Amino acid sequence: MTTPTTPTAATRAAIALGSNLGDSLATLEGALQALAAATAIDLLACSSWYRSLAIGPAQPDYLNGCCLIRTTLAAEALLEELLRIERAFGRVRGERWGPRTLDLDLLLFGDLQRQEPILTVPHPHMLERPFVLTPLAEIAADWREPRSGHTIGELAARLGAGGLLERRPRPAGPPSMPALERGQPLAS
Ligand code: AMP
Repeated sequence: MTTPTTPTAATRAAIALGSNLGDSLATLEGALQALAAATAIDLLACSSWYRSLAIGPAQPDYLNGCCLIRTTLAAEALLEELLRIERAFGRVRGERWGPRTLDLDLLLFGDLQRQEPILTVPHPHMLERPFVLTPLAEIAADWREPRSGHTIGELAARLGAGGLLERRPRPAGPPSMPALERGQPLAS
């Protein structure tokens, strides 16, 4: 059964965060706070941050991670919220694959499968990106990716950790995020 676009109950969703311009750690932590403060979004869990090699033109390393939320928003409204938060952190859309202050991608929205330019879920590139699957596996190893039918843990283990340079455990969540759980350390 597919997830309705307009949920009647809360839907679990997974979001990828990335930054390679400015103070990336502060930006990513700020983005988590913005998500936690957003209407109709509960932040459930956050992964560690990973420093990773950029793909595309020569540019600084990225800091990447993932979080899980629960929301009563429809998928389109959630994506709008992610784009609003990107803009709030000064995201300017430059060259494709170019450096960015903040990039937020909707990875999974329940078991919804949708393929449109404005919204493709599961995210079309998530299965080929160690900087997505490795942090996501910290917090959602048992979640079955709906297209492949495999769990995130299986997919992450199969893909490996190519391009990941360093894992940085998150600082403890501020009091405004009581639901926050820290990702479990990876067995390395
Ligand atoms: P980018 O900033 O390169 O991630 O691209 C953002 C654009 O991709 C936005 O205009 C979105 O409408 C579109 N898009 C399609 N599917 C997704 C998704 N799953 N997550 C984030 N953006 C998406």
